Amino acid sequence: MKIYHLYLFIFILLPFVTFAQFDSLQRFHSQIVHQPASFKRDTTLVNINNEIAWRYRLINADSTFKYAQQALQIAQKIQWKYGELIAYQRIGLAYRTKSDYPNTVAYFLKALKIAETLPDSLQMASCFNTLGLVAQWQYKYELSLNYFQKALKIYQQKKSDWGLLGIYNNIGLTFFRQKNYQDAFKNYRKALQLDQKIKDPLWHAITYRNLSEIYLANDSIDLAWQHAQEALLTAQKTNIKTVIISTLNIIASIHQKKEDYQQSIHLAQQSIAIARSLGTRDYIKDAYLLLYRAYKKIGKTDSTLINYEYYIAYRDSLLNEENESKIEGLKKKYEFDKQQAEQVIQTQKKQFENLYMRSLYAGFVFLGALAILLFINNLQKRKANKQLEQQKNQIALTNEELQTQNEKLNELNREKDGLMNVVAHDLRAPLNRIKGLVNVIELQNPPSDTQKYLDIIHNTCDSGRRLIQDLLDINQIEQPDSQSDWQIIELNRFIPMLVDNYQVQALNKSIEIYQLEPNNETIQLWTDETLLQRIMDNLLSNALKFSYKHSNIFVKWGQTTEHIFISIKDEGPGIKPEDRKKMFQKFQKLSAKPTAGEDSTGLGLAIVKSLTERLQGTVEVHSEEGRGAEFLLKFPIYDEQKS
Ligand code: ADP
Repeated sequence: MKIYHLYLFIFILLPFVTFAQFDSLQRFHSQIVHQPASFKRDTTLVNINNEIAWRYRLINADSTFKYAQQALQIAQKIQWKYGELIAYQRIGLAYRTKSDYPNTVAYFLKALKIAETLPDSLQMASCFNTLGLVAQWQYKYELSLNYFQKALKIYQQKKSDWGLLGIYNNIGLTFFRQKNYQDAFKNYRKALQLDQKIKDPLWHAITYRNLSEIYLANDSIDLAWQHAQEALLTAQKTNIKTVIISTLNIIASIHQKKEDYQQSIHLAQQSIAIARSLGTRDYIKDAYLLLYRAYKKIGKTDSTLINYEYYIAYRDSLLNEENESKIEGLKKKYEFDKQQAEQVIQTQKKQFENLYMRSLYAGFVFLGALAILLFINNLQKRKANKQLEQQKNQIALTNEELQTQNEKLNELNREKDGLMNVVAHDLRAPLNRIKGLVNVIELQNPPSDTQKYLDIIHNTCDSGRRLIQDLLDINQIEQPDSQSDWQIIELNRFIPMLVDNYQVQALNKSIEIYQLEPNNETIQLWTDETLLQRIMDNLLSNALKFSYKHSNIFVKWGQTTEHIFISIKDEGPGIKPEDRKKMFQKFQKLSAKPTAGEDSTGLGLAIVKSLTERLQGTVEVHSEEGRGAEFLLKFPIYDEQKS
């Protein structure tokens, strides 16, 4: 059998065991304690001892005391607070049965102290209940009701019908003792409702006993009799001695009402006998009062006196000054301990609050500092980023400058290479040619065709000179301080005169030059005539150079609303798209080649562009590949007022 089987047995089957079977229960207990050590679970033992103590509480106070003490010892040894609490309650109950009020209060206050620290509030209610009963027996009804109200609140919260049934009975009893029968009855009725629901023999007997008592007080003798009989029957069946005694006392009172004094004496004596065996002094006290009254009625003076003395003695033993002050002292001690405990809790709470506030404050300070640090860090980062960005921009700018300078250097380098090439090739070629011709003349003796050779030498020299002139021109044009001789010229005079210079050359290639002058309009241009002539020379000589034989050249000039223009258009090979970007750069000889072996230096168009810009004009090229090229010069219109 495992430990929990035993546990189940105790708590499920025990309620079905009648009180008469307590001997066997005792035997069972001794079997348990003699089980091997492994079998004894300490908490289970505490529970068993407490349970047996509970069962004995209404039949044998000494046994209750014995088992509860055992439970207390084990519980204290294993420091099991709950077990200790229940044991204190049981010991308190044993003292209650013995009508030892100071010890009852002492143990229930001990129990209450523990109950306040545990989550099970029902135990607290149970303590309040018993303390209320003790106050009731001391005739301290206000205090008694106060305790009962506390217990009632807990039982209501916990919805404990069993607890409520008890507490309504106890509240009713307090009102009854105050002779407030109305409120007493109200509470007994509530108890009766719960009694019908729960059907617990103990509370059934108590409820009926209480009702019987109130009926008796109201002179409802029959009802009092019926309820007392029901209470006695139930209490006897289940051997609830305290209820048997108190009910016997009530029945004895009923007999006195009926003036049946002999029967009353008989029952009171029965009650005293049982109460003595239990040690319950308050019921003995009540029984002696009954005996005293009965003997008085039947006129037995001796017995009357003796019983009265007994009654007084028992009453005084219960409520002497010593007991009163003991109880007061205990209550004060409990209050003091409670206050101290509360003070400790308060101080701890304050300390915790202080600590909490400090931690909170420190936390805020820390967070604040962190925020400031982060902010500063962020600022520095941003500043650094800005500087970096600026430096990056600066570097990009410098890179760009370097790039342009590099490009310029490349350009200059290329120009230098071009120049060297011209000097090496284009100047050497005419010189070689002249030297060859001179050799031929020397070898022919007498020389024939001398004139012809001289003409060729003459032309070759011209060509060399032109090249040198071009080089000098381009060099001079690029000087920033080169001067211009501005004047007004009439294009109608200037262009035909210029074109005339090229007629012989055109004739040699069977090319027709057409001049398209504007009708009856004199075009005046504000310009430097020499420079304009250099521009025109280059364009006209190019047109002739790159035109096929038997083609035409058109020279046109005029004025629009916006500018003065001069156009030279040929029917040569035209200019390829890929050549356009390079054609105005120096030393660029492109796809189109001279058609009759003319000179080509790659400087002409560069000179044209530079000079046109110096004359505040622009040069455009319009050409379709294979369909000729047109060079269009545009100059600002002469404004007399401006000039
Ligand atoms: P050059 O005439 O001494 O070669 P230019 O600077 O005048 O040098 O011309 C550069 C190049 O442009 C020429 O070599 C030629 O390929 C092209 N070009 C110039 N004028 C014309 C034109 N009217 N028709 C076709 N191609 C031309």
